[in-house]
Amino acid sequence: MQGKIIKGIAGFYYIHAEDNEVYECKAKGIFRKDNRKPLVGDNVEIEVLDEKEKEGSVTAILPRKNSLIRPAVANVDQAFVIFAMENPKPNFMLLDRFLIMMEQADIPVTICFNKKDLGTREELDFLYETYQSCGYKVILSSTYQGDGMEEIKKILQGKTTVVAGPSGVGKSSITNALQGNVQMETGEISKKLKRGKHTTRHSQVIPAGKDTYLVDTPGFSCLYLSDMEEQELKDYFPEFRKYEGQCRFQGCRHIHEPGCAVKEALDNHEISSLRYEDYLGLYEELKEKRRF
Ligand code: GDP
Ligand code: ZN
Repeated sequence: MQGKIIKGIAGFYYIHAEDNEVYECKAKGIFRKDNRKPLVGDNVEIEVLDEKEKEGSVTAILPRKNSLIRPAVANVDQAFVIFAMENPKPNFMLLDRFLIMMEQADIPVTICFNKKDLGTREELDFLYETYQSCGYKVILSSTYQGDGMEEIKKILQGKTTVVAGPSGVGKSSITNALQGNVQMETGEISKKLKRGKHTTRHSQVIPAGKDTYLVDTPGFSCLYLSDMEEQELKDYFPEFRKYEGQCRFQGCRHIHEPGCAVKEALDNHEISSLRYEDYLGLYEELKEKRRF
């Protein structure tokens, strides 16, 4: 039978299988055979050893589409990052760090600004414009008024999605609103998962409908850009791309170079100054880091 690893604790893997049951499995011998460690999110083949106790053994890891390091998870289709209009106000530097990490991993992102009811028309338009013009899908939502919920449901349907965002923005309110019709399913699953409650730092995949999985991201408040040279950073700002070929110098970093088309676009308000300021800040941070 096939299934997906939704949690891993101390040598045990919890598999959400085709029959919509969760099996507790060991991965015997698979490390040597495949020479790789099973990851949460991996699609696997299992052999059921005890039908009543729902126990089994992972016998093979199916081919992996991709994998992230933080959160450690395989087969991610997309990311969904949530901020709030107020309480707390959006931390753009944190959002931009997250977007860069996802650009680096080639994972498409939808940005959700929740608590739409607390934002003014001008603020909402500004955020929508800023990130939409970079090529990201932007949703303005309110769990209080129901705005955006249908759209969010449609985006998540049938996909494995990394859900991220600082605490207090309404992450649980949104995921709860979406899980309405799969409540029973997740209740069953959490019973089975109770044993491993103390390992909160591990990523976990939450089944939320047919072929639909949400990946919880622990530790979102401190995102470090790693494995990156400062010269590379510009490649992860998608809004720079269409100007790049027009810069006077090849490999232009869009900082002090004369004849820079990105800076010209900035002056013409075609590129967001909020995003550009973050670019400069992160560039300096990466440069500093390299000196140690
Ligand atoms: P989490 O920490 O991201 O999971 O956030 P919660 O879902 O626990 O929500 C944090 C607080 O924000 C709670 O008091 C919610 O009632 C409130 N909240 C959630 N969604 C909205 C919204 O759309 N508008 C407003 N005004 N408050 C919201
Ligand atoms: Zn340039």
